[in-house]
Amino acid sequence: MDENFAGIDATMELAWSAFQAYRELPRKRRWDFMHAIAEEIEALGDHLLETANSETHLPLSRLAAERARTCWQLRSYADACLRGDHLDIRIDTADASRIPPKPGLRKMNLPLGPVIVFGASNFPFAYSTAGGDTACAFAAGCTVVVKAHPAHPRCSDLVAGAILRAASKTGMPDGVFGHVHGAGNETGAALVRHPHSKAVGFTGSFSGGKALFDIANSRPDPIPVFAEMGSVNPVFLLPEQLAMRAEDFARQLAASITLSVGQFCTNPGVLVGMQGPDLDRFAATLSTEIRKSVPETMLHPGISASFRQHRSHALAQEEVQVLGESTLKADVNQGIPTLATVEAAVFLRNPALQTEVFGPYSILVQCQDIAQMRLVAKALRGQISSTLIATPTDITANPDLVATLQEGCGRLIMNGVPTGVEVVLAQHHGGPYPATTDGRYTAVGADGIRRFVRPLAFQNWEDSLLPPELQDANPEGLLRTINNVLTKDSIL
Ligand code: NAP
Repeated sequence: MDENFAGIDATMELAWSAFQAYRELPRKRRWDFMHAIAEEIEALGDHLLETANSETHLPLSRLAAERARTCWQLRSYADACLRGDHLDIRIDTADASRIPPKPGLRKMNLPLGPVIVFGASNFPFAYSTAGGDTACAFAAGCTVVVKAHPAHPRCSDLVAGAILRAASKTGMPDGVFGHVHGAGNETGAALVRHPHSKAVGFTGSFSGGKALFDIANSRPDPIPVFAEMGSVNPVFLLPEQLAMRAEDFARQLAASITLSVGQFCTNPGVLVGMQGPDLDRFAATLSTEIRKSVPETMLHPGISASFRQHRSHALAQEEVQVLGESTLKADVNQGIPTLATVEAAVFLRNPALQTEVFGPYSILVQCQDIAQMRLVAKALRGQISSTLIATPTDITANPDLVATLQEGCGRLIMNGVPTGVEVVLAQHHGGPYPATTDGRYTAVGADGIRRFVRPLAFQNWEDSLLPPELQDANPEGLLRTINNVLTKDSIL
């Protein structure tokens, strides 16, 4: 075993032994740990923001907001852990008088084991070292090993230090958190292959997520991979609303397409409307806004090279035209805000036009009629989000289109833009493949904790031997489903 992989083995051994202790701690101890991480991250002050700024080029204001969101995630997921939302407790009491006698069954979710988290390039805090995946795994009772993203290694080190200080202050077992560097795929692959790894959280490219999914599934004991990958987040412009507010939505969408140099998995990359004077007004305003947009430096040279390559590839496709691009000169590491257009018939026969161009790029697909809009909706692959710009009449007049969009995405927005993801329990940030590898689960909101647990049913156990969450007295006052009724009651 070479030195690097010996290091991975030692890290995973520690994560595994720490898991045996961490899983047994009362949930209040996990809550203490997660709140302490948020405090330690805040205590890093401006130094953390400046380090992230120097590594990612993201503005300090955006980084400050992202840090606040990260601490909110840690605290709100800790609160959800304490409430026991993710435990899904089901109790069916025994009935000795039934013939044959009915056994008592009590089920709850338990942590999976060490989770491997791959930090994202575009969210150095909220989806990286102490980001959503790490917070969910800690809340679930799992230990975590983070593969630091090679684009912001110093930022990752600072946050890892904050987690380790919080672990020490709150008396967590040694190895509750591990942090591994190593660009070039092999480090990540070795972590996913390791026998002590029990799940994976990933945010990034389709090729990266799919490669890790395939590695996890080729193990002798396959493990779940929750990969959030590409999405073009289509926006459908329905006729009545477009007639009333074409310019208004064009401006909102221009701001959404160019926000953070378009480096969001929720960037609206495909816009779909019906040809006519209202779509012309929309296109004219949107292209004017895009032409005025200022090119900005992207996260790292690899991302800007990838943007330029994907943009050129999209624009080189048959019958694709540029409607508007920034009139300001961009340097080699800057994203060029770009709006392209194509007729729906061409879009429908060329799947390459659905490929995500990660950056400030969107394509307007022009349909002849509503039937062609439905065909475009049917042709789209799985999405994180879809958006309807529509009046209530537009919605009720187009049930097939609405149903198709519902089937194909994880979040269906009405009269808004897909960028801006609220971190709340009702959020779903997922979507059918290839947006994610498992559309049943969310990467945002405390329901994301459920990715890292599995149910265990206890049959015929003595009350005193059960976990406290399942005992008759309900000592923690948890919400439980007892004989098909949701209640906080104890069992008399
Ligand atoms: P990435 O290339 O997918 O890398 C993300 C992480 O996964 C890195 O730590 C990378 O580490 C690891 N990785 C990638 N491929 C791997 C493989 N085959 N085996 C093992 N580990 C692997 O993402 P990125 O660097 O953030 O950006 C590249 C592109 O991803 C962007 O241009 C954009 O198209 C897309 N992206 C999408 C989203 C989204 O939210 N959907 C977010 C960010 C980026 P190593 O390179 O060290 O192996």
